[in-house]
Amino acid sequence: MEPKKAVSSPGGTGDKKEDRLDRVQQGVRQRLEKWLKNTPYRFNPDTSTVDTIIKGLALRKLKYGEEYCPCRVVNNEDKGKNKGIICPCIYHEEEIAQGGICFCGLFVGTNYKPE
Ligand code: SF4
Repeated sequence: MEPKKAVSSPGGTGDKKEDRLDRVQQGVRQRLEKWLKNTPYRFNPDTSTVDTIIKGLALRKLKYGEEYCPCRVVNNEDKGKNKGIICPCIYHEEEIAQGGICFCGLFVGTNYKPE
């Protein structure tokens, strides 16, 4: 009997993982777009930064089940300690007030001045 070949055609295991990541990224983006409507903030005008951070949030959602900040360390011992770093984290308001941008660079305020 011949050994089974790894499936690499469309519809294979790899594609399903990619599709899942794409779907989660879309969900993250939609949730944050909705959230932004009720804030004075907006996404960083640098769209590649936004794409990178949203992908990071989606990967954390897939790994941990929550959209933890991709720029901060997740506490694996005590999950309860991570509540404050679910995006938008508890630090974003202060960070944006001080520097115009959150730590990851996903959200900016009206005071944001690109370098
Ligand atoms: S630093 Fe920005 S991207 Fe990271 S969790 Fe806070 S608000 Fe979200």
